[in-house]
Amino acid sequence: MFKFDLTKYKKYDKPGPRYTSYPTAPHFNESFTNEDFLKEIKDTNKKDNPANLSLYFHLPYCDTLCYFCGCNMIITRNRDRVKEYINYVKKEIDLLKKFLNPSRNVTQLHWGGGTPTHLNPEEIAELAAYIQRSFKFREDSENSCEIDPRGLTYEHLQALRENGFNRISMGVQDFNEEVQKAVNRIQPEEITLQAIEWIRKLGFDSINLDLMYGLPFQTNESFERTVQKIVQISPDRIAVFNYAHVPWMKKHMNLIKVEDLPKPEVKLEILKMATEKLTSGGYCFIGMDHFAKPDDELAIALREKKLYRNFQGYSTRAGADLYAFGITAISQLANVYAQNHKVEKDYYEALDAAKIPTGKGYRLNEDDKIRRYVVMKVMCDFALNFKEVEEKFEIDFRKYFNWGLNNLKEMVEDELVELEKDSLTVTEVGRLLVRNIAMNFDGYIERKEDIGKYSKTL
Ligand code: SF4
Repeated sequence: MFKFDLTKYKKYDKPGPRYTSYPTAPHFNESFTNEDFLKEIKDTNKKDNPANLSLYFHLPYCDTLCYFCGCNMIITRNRDRVKEYINYVKKEIDLLKKFLNPSRNVTQLHWGGGTPTHLNPEEIAELAAYIQRSFKFREDSENSCEIDPRGLTYEHLQALRENGFNRISMGVQDFNEEVQKAVNRIQPEEITLQAIEWIRKLGFDSINLDLMYGLPFQTNESFERTVQKIVQISPDRIAVFNYAHVPWMKKHMNLIKVEDLPKPEVKLEILKMATEKLTSGGYCFIGMDHFAKPDDELAIALREKKLYRNFQGYSTRAGADLYAFGITAISQLANVYAQNHKVEKDYYEALDAAKIPTGKGYRLNEDDKIRRYVVMKVMCDFALNFKEVEEKFEIDFRKYFNWGLNNLKEMVEDELVELEKDSLTVTEVGRLLVRNIAMNFDGYIERKEDIGKYSKTL
């Protein structure tokens, strides 16, 4: 079991990026246009051996508002609005497909939201089959969908399974009714268990469950009961997210009363308890907020240093170009990030004009590429070989990262990092604070140019 004294690390609980990209999304800007993105897409096809494809589809609609929600979502019960959106996503597929080398294999597909299962079973089948027909999927492609057990039927899951999905991810947050009421997400335990039973019956390969700590009225004891039940359910992967109360970014979070939130020291206790319970319950601690069974691909990738990070968090399929569809969705190629328009109107207008619906983006410069490599090594391998970075980018590592290496001294004393002459290793407890460690290699933070407002790291 993984045991540690978190009170010692309270000082590190400060805002920091989650590093699902480097640079982070606040640096994307509108001077990057759809023409820039198109040029890059064409360049990636020209390579002798173009990268595999990872596809993300953003399905933003939800039935009701969860007050803790940090996603790009739209609350609606208007079915015509959903149907129109699906048609435009299909248009986007048709448009992009024209520019992609058809021999490129899809190795990963993810539907996120919003609530993808806000689509009815017929709409799910229609869109999923369209995607399958439009691209060349590798047999072992990892195809996952986020579901919401509220309003879910067996037919929703059947439509997903019959159209190539093999992984399911589901939000639970907390089984406690008082907590559920305070965040406006009433999800009785029975419906979560019913969904799990259906997922298993339909033969999906893997289930991920998301929990959330730091929500109103949570106590260490109440959340412990939730964690115990989750261990009994025995999903393949578990994420324990920290609720980030950022009402200045998400206005609806004002519906949560600050005085109902657990105090920072209670949150630390909860995090410690959850980490200890999950690891003693047979789960491997991956990093930050992710846990997986030892035979799960994520745990295997951690052991083999093949973990990867993208906008969905930790992933196992490195090296693929990520193409993202739908409003707000972010594509990631070797040299650029491109984010689609944020509202339906702009997204639809671009597609009606047969234009890629890029709203903003970013082209990485040489410094970004070096730092992205280093930040992702720290975040995913939890180790760094300075010589390897020096050879790859022809730099003097200690000179280039002098600022960050100096900052690490305190973390070495606090046993978060082990520093050798030519290498760095993140300790097990350091993996909880890996964002803080990676921040030392972030050029925007070093140059005080960071413009993002981030959630706290613990
Ligand atoms: S269902 Fe998910 S995306 Fe929709 S409001 Fe709730 S947390 Fe946000």
